[in-house]
Amino acid sequence: MATAIYTHPVCEQHDMGSGHAECPARIAAISSALESAGLIQQLDQRRAPMASQDVLGLAHPDSYVQAIYDVAPSEGLISLDGDTAMNVFTLEAARRAAGAAVAAVDAVMAGEVENAFCQTRPPGHHAESRQSMGFCLFGNVAIAAKHALEHHGLQRVAIVDFDVHHGNGTEDLVKDDARILFCSSFMHPHYPGYFGKNISGQRINTPLDGGTGGAEFRAVLEDHWLPALREQQPEMIFISAGFDAHRDDPLGGLALVEDDFYWATKQFMEIADEYAQGRVVSVLEGGYNLSALGSSAAAHVQALLGQ
Ligand SMILES: [Zn+2]
Repeated sequence: MATAIYTHPVCEQHDMGSGHAECPARIAAISSALESAGLIQQLDQRRAPMASQDVLGLAHPDSYVQAIYDVAPSEGLISLDGDTAMNVFTLEAARRAAGAAVAAVDAVMAGEVENAFCQTRPPGHHAESRQSMGFCLFGNVAIAAKHALEHHGLQRVAIVDFDVHHGNGTEDLVKDDARILFCSSFMHPHYPGYFGKNISGQRINTPLDGGTGGAEFRAVLEDHWLPALREQQPEMIFISAGFDAHRDDPLGGLALVEDDFYWATKQFMEIADEYAQGRVVSVLEGGYNLSALGSSAAAHVQALLGQ
């Protein structure tokens, strides 16, 4: 069955100022790598729709969503926190980043595609319940997971996050929901600097020392994530696909390579085949070396295509 890719031109218009690592060129870097690898024409290419305020409210209080709408500028740039800013296009891009993840759930649940990758920005996994942070406004992956539970009647879903940074926002948004298993690997100590230091129940936080390479990363997933996933038997798997754990990433400090992202994706797909009818929805998070981002995303998408 097919793999969908969701994106939208406005995801390249959200711009937090020159020199910002989370830059519009990230989208084009992925597109050109997918094209060079001959993958783009194999994908079901779809436009990311805009999430409504109600959909954003699946994971955030309405007052927070309304506050973001209210501060969206009609010109210039406004700062939300130390790392995150909004220009004229940011609100629409953020709504489309969340909307893509939700639409991907709908397409996968309808059996139109087996899995999907959301090539969108801003990313989402640092956005907490009532706080933008780390380039993120809305928790795209958590919103999509809640949508799968609330609107499609799934009982159990998993979110796996291999971004170099801890998915603090996702953890905050799903912390009271026992139906969601959350696994996050991340360099520690590193931004954002805190995490629930537990490997138990529904929260599998696996910190990695700086410089950790593929062999150790794979061992951590095999020892902690894959058994937890098999025990939970998720009906859909969400991937917070951050590629800043790549060895060339300027904001990272781990030493993963393209093949590690490919391998990890394959592991999640195997589990999805076992328990979830192959249903996987992947959402772009970090990745700031444009060349490594492109090639890593291409390896990830190649795995999603079953190649
Ligand atoms: Zn990151």
